Amino acid sequence: MIERGYYDGFGGAFLPEVLVATFDELEQTFRAAKADEGFWQEYVRVMSTYSCRPTPLTFAENLTRHFGGARIYIKREDLNHTGAHKANNVMGQGLLVKRMGKSRVIAETGAGQHGVATATMAARFGFKCTIYMGEVDVQRQRPNVFWMERLGAEVVPVTEGTRILKDAINEAFRDWVTNMDTTHYVLGTACGPHPFPEMVTYFQSLIGQEAREQVLAETGRLPHRIYACVGGGSNAMGIFNAFLKDEVELVGVEAGGKGVTTGQHAARLASEDGSVGVAQGYKTFFLQDEDGQMMETHSVAAGLDYVGVSPILASLKQSGRVRFEAATDTEVVEALQLTIQKEGLIPALESAHGFVQAFKEAPQMSAENAIIINQSGRGDKDIFTVADAFNDPKWQAFIKAKAEAYHA
Ligand SMILES: *Cc1c(COP(=O)(O)O)cnc(C)c1O
Repeated sequence: MIERGYYDGFGGAFLPEVLVATFDELEQTFRAAKADEGFWQEYVRVMSTYSCRPTPLTFAENLTRHFGGARIYIKREDLNHTGAHKANNVMGQGLLVKRMGKSRVIAETGAGQHGVATATMAARFGFKCTIYMGEVDVQRQRPNVFWMERLGAEVVPVTEGTRILKDAINEAFRDWVTNMDTTHYVLGTACGPHPFPEMVTYFQSLIGQEAREQVLAETGRLPHRIYACVGGGSNAMGIFNAFLKDEVELVGVEAGGKGVTTGQHAARLASEDGSVGVAQGYKTFFLQDEDGQMMETHSVAAGLDYVGVSPILASLKQSGRVRFEAATDTEVVEALQLTIQKEGLIPALESAHGFVQAFKEAPQMSAENAIIINQSGRGDKDIFTVADAFNDPKWQAFIKAKAEAYHA
């Protein structure tokens, strides 16, 4: 166990002895890259030529008029290549893999978005790629599995445990232990053992740097509040990081699922169900029972459905710097519908969690106050879930006809 990478007691790196040298190498490579000004410039250049950076800050004029309070701005991470902020993290880590001279990347994925992003990065940089995915998720997320395979990745269905994201993480670590010399593990969010929370936050912090400049140019002052959804915490840390020292209220919104008192949610910080523990190599709030067994989580947004949360966010909750709220599935679908109709934007179901809380609070603010919502990703990927939620009979007929065509 290494005593570093702690945030007010959260975080750390609880590693098997065999992985210690690999984590040291990763940390040294990251430190050297960080100290090299040319590295950040190269990263920004890659992101601006491959992934639509800087992403715009959009004034949501119609939503602002609708709520009649704060001026609502939306940071457009949905415009990244592969449709979400995940591109920032995978391309950044890809540059580090090149520096380490490794030739293969592995990753865990739950909803499949991080798997697609990693497979895309691997195709671009010419790395071999293996994606670990719980067998249950492989079945639920066929469109993403299809794209990962087209991109040249091997997708390995994990049959251990409950066959979901946490089991895929364990399996990815097992692969890493046997292939450390050639392989880098591209962890997908600001979680896991040190230095991942810091490193993922570093790459995602481009979001907040841009947003800060953009909102100052647009309104002449800092925003009053910023809202971001929280799965593992990478898009939230990405936008919050540039404002931590300012008088700007930061609000993280977790998956309230069917309600935070129903046991069917993924609110580790905004419910009473989370407790501090050590699992998967780091210390944070987990949804676990009294014996430390991980609980099952639920959310309409597959990308928010994780038992742990960034140790950096856990410390920011403890210090009171970030406020945490939860949005229920029903509220999320309503906020999504309103945003689509008022602005012609389709936020991902994950991102729509941030919109829910912003919509609750915007009417109580004045036009002097600007707020920013981080639209972490685009919602086209959610067509199956959203069409079900709206109970659209024409969509159901379409799916039925497709299925019947295969039987014929
Ligand atoms: C993966 C994902 C999330 C959740 O991940 P964080 O690390 O909490 O940002 C949120 N939004 C979208 C669109 C995602 O794909």
